[in-house]
Amino acid sequence: MRTEVKSLRAPEPSAAELSAEAERLFAAGLADLGYTEQDIERCAKLTWKINRLKAERRAVIPAHVYQRAEIIHGVADFIGDSYRLAKLCAVAESRSIVFCGVRFMAETAKILNPDKEVWLPAVEAGCSLSESITAADVRRIKALHPGAPVATYINTSAEIKAESDVIVTSANAATILRKLFSRHPKVIFLPDEMMGLNLAKALGKEPGREIIIWKGRCIVHDNFDSQSVALYRKMYPGVKILAHAECSPELVSMVDFVGGTGDMMNYVAKSSASSYMLVTECGLGDLARTRFPEKRFVPMCRLCPYMKATGLEGILGVLERPAAPQRIDLPPELCEKARRPIERMFELAEDGVKS
Ligand code: SF4
Repeated sequence: MRTEVKSLRAPEPSAAELSAEAERLFAAGLADLGYTEQDIERCAKLTWKINRLKAERRAVIPAHVYQRAEIIHGVADFIGDSYRLAKLCAVAESRSIVFCGVRFMAETAKILNPDKEVWLPAVEAGCSLSESITAADVRRIKALHPGAPVATYINTSAEIKAESDVIVTSANAATILRKLFSRHPKVIFLPDEMMGLNLAKALGKEPGREIIIWKGRCIVHDNFDSQSVALYRKMYPGVKILAHAECSPELVSMVDFVGGTGDMMNYVAKSSASSYMLVTECGLGDLARTRFPEKRFVPMCRLCPYMKATGLEGILGVLERPAAPQRIDLPPELCEKARRPIERMFELAEDGVKS
C-alpha cells in the first residue's frame, strides 16, 4: 500500500539569503526578459524555499523549455524537450521527480522511472494534442490497417504509448519512419496531423494510402499563419525563420529551418546570423534571449496555457504538502507496456541498425 508523503514547511530566508537569491536570478537574465525588481524579489523568496525543500525531499526538478523563465532559471535541475527530460530523469539520482511540464511528459518520466515518485504541480496541465486521441481510437485504426506499424509522437498519454509500436520525437521522427517504411508499405502516424503531413512530404509518402495520419492538433503551433511569416520576412531582411515541426506544411515550406525545440536552439547556436524568429511557444524565445544575448529575436510566438499552468507557488506547494491528485500513478503493467515502444525509439533513433 502506498504511504502518504508527510508535509514539510520551508524555512524563511534571511534578508542576506533573499538578496543573494535575487542577485542570482538577476544575473540569470530575468530583468532582460522584463521582470521588475519586485517580480524578482517575489520569485527569489519562492525559488530559495523550493531549492531548500528540493534537497530535503531528494527531488529533482526537470523543466520543459516552454516553462516560465523563473522556473527554468530559478529551480530547474535540467531543461530540455520531453525526450531529453525523460532520459535525464532516468539517470538522475533522486527519490522523486517534480515535473515542470505537462501531464504526458510527467507520465513518460513515470514510465521510465517506475520506482520513483513523480509529481505534477499543476494537475490541469494537459495538452490539446495528447487529448485528441483515445486508446480505443488507436485500436480502431489498427484494426482498419492490419500489419501497419504504429509510430506515435511522444506527446501522448501512457495509454496511447502502450498501444503503439514505436514512439518518435520531432527530432527523430523522419529517421524512424524511414526505417519503418523500409520494411512496411504503410505506417500509421499519431496523433499530430501537421507533423504527419510534414513527414509525408519529406519522405515522399501519400497521406491516407501510405501514411495514415490522425487529426490531432497542437493549439499553439496550429495558430501560426504563413502570411505573418511572409510579412515578417519582408519587415526584417536577413532574419532566419525557424519553425517547430508541429506547424502547418504551408508555413514549414516558407522557413529556413524546421525541427524540434532542441534542434532550433542548436541551429541558433551554430548560425552566424544576427536575427531570428522562432515560430513556436514563447518560452523558447525567452530561453534563447538569455542564452544568446548577442543575438536578436524577433517576437512571433504564442503562449501555451497548459505549459504556463505551472508556477513557483504550485512547485513549492507540491514540495510542502504533496496532494494525491498531483502524484502520477500508473499501473505497473501499463508502464511496462508503454515502456517498450519508448525503448524501441531509443534503439531505432540511436543505433541506426535495426528496423
Ligand atoms: S505546446 Fe502544443 S503540444 Fe505542447 S503542451 Fe502545449 S498544446 Fe500540447
